[in-house]
Amino acid sequence: MTAPLIIIGTGLAGYNLVKEFRKHDQERAIVMLTSDDGRQYSKPMLSTGFSKGKDAAGLAMNDAAAMADTLKIEIRTFQKVSKIDCVQKQVFVQDDVLEYSDLVLALGAEPITLQMPGSEHLFHVNDLMDYHAFHQALKTKKDVVVLGAGLVGCEYAHDLAAAGFNVQLVAPDAQPLSRLVPVACGEVLIPALQKLGVTMHLGLSANAVQKTPEGVEITLSDGSVLTADVVLSAVGLRARTELAKTAGLNVDKAIEVDRQLRTSDEHIYALGDCAQVDGLHLLYVLPLMNSARALAKTLAGQENLLQYPVMPVMVKTPTMPVVTCPPRDTSKGEWTIEGQTPHLQALFKDSEGKLLGYALTGDCVAEKMKLNKELPVSWL
Ligand SMILES: Cc1cc2nc3c(=O)[nH]c(=O)nc-3n(C[C@H](O)[C@H](O)[C@H](O)COP(=O)(O)OP(=O)(O)OC[C@H]3O[C@@H](n4cnc5c(N)ncnc54)[C@H](O)[C@@H]3O)c2cc1C
Repeated sequence: MTAPLIIIGTGLAGYNLVKEFRKHDQERAIVMLTSDDGRQYSKPMLSTGFSKGKDAAGLAMNDAAAMADTLKIEIRTFQKVSKIDCVQKQVFVQDDVLEYSDLVLALGAEPITLQMPGSEHLFHVNDLMDYHAFHQALKTKKDVVVLGAGLVGCEYAHDLAAAGFNVQLVAPDAQPLSRLVPVACGEVLIPALQKLGVTMHLGLSANAVQKTPEGVEITLSDGSVLTADVVLSAVGLRARTELAKTAGLNVDKAIEVDRQLRTSDEHIYALGDCAQVDGLHLLYVLPLMNSARALAKTLAGQENLLQYPVMPVMVKTPTMPVVTCPPRDTSKGEWTIEGQTPHLQALFKDSEGKLLGYALTGDCVAEKMKLNKELPVSWL
């Protein structure tokens, strides 16, 4: 009997790949392995759940059994893969060894944990099970400190404040979204979050967290101390690369793949947050959806190369919308900003005036469709 196609990971990357693959091939045996409970959910919804009054069960779309049934596959939950043998084409899961014909790594990324005293008291929310733990911890509580003012930190601060929590946001950056949009565009979120009741502590880092009988104390880099019921850390994610590294696959910031999503081993592929496609490591949904469609074809035997179309990133801060399509290389041009705060249009153009990226805030987000048409057709 031919060994199955094995996919490690049941996040958006893993499940979308199987959905796309089944459009081409209804028969091939597929086994999915996941270290979590395998429930299907949309991860971007994790940072809008509190204001919608949703618990983890309310965000889940299907359990693993329903997914297995619909997709005609086998799903093994709570199975952490510990090793890959590329020569024997085997994966090691707890006491079991499984053979694969092809292997797909859809391992995602893990939250970066701040190295400081008391870091074990920090909450991270990167999957449905994390969300459940965080939701439970906040059941009878009101005061939350959020660490990090990137996309995820800003979205959680907005969501929790909109849901009635007292939120304090701490970040070393001078303004929100500093790695995603130009300064002026990030700055529009400061009054917007303040208007919702968020207290901003920008230009400061958390140096220590201490548990107290009432909750937690967070010592900041200027010596000041904040008190809260819980602290949520949203300071960034790092691709899960250990399995690939120890298997001898090429790894950079993430697992390196070509435009067929193939790693340095011809029978192992990677997509989603764990993969770096042709040098680009993008931790968003649209890149993984495009990757899933392309890889499904490749696995079904249809020659094709991944194309990344224009893929804007929407920041889910509904009282002050922000959308951006960051330029691939910020050394290839410069930003110009038009408009009246908070309604800004920032355009990134090269020396010949060609549009390579944009960031829009407030009412200017309406320009998104028009600008998308002016951007380069493919990002790879
Ligand atoms: C709060 C939040 C909000 C976001 N909002 C947006 C947004 O608005 N727009 C957007 O485009 N993107 C957003 N993103 C990013 C987007 O959600 C991710 O890019 C995407 O969900 C990643 O999917 P994935 O399948 O690659 O990884 P994951 O969903 O992390 O899945 C990884 C899977 O691998 C499994 N796994 C890992 N290691 C092992 C192992 N050793 N053995 C077995 N199984 C293993 C895990 O159990 C899991 O099933 C957001 C992210 C977060 C955290």
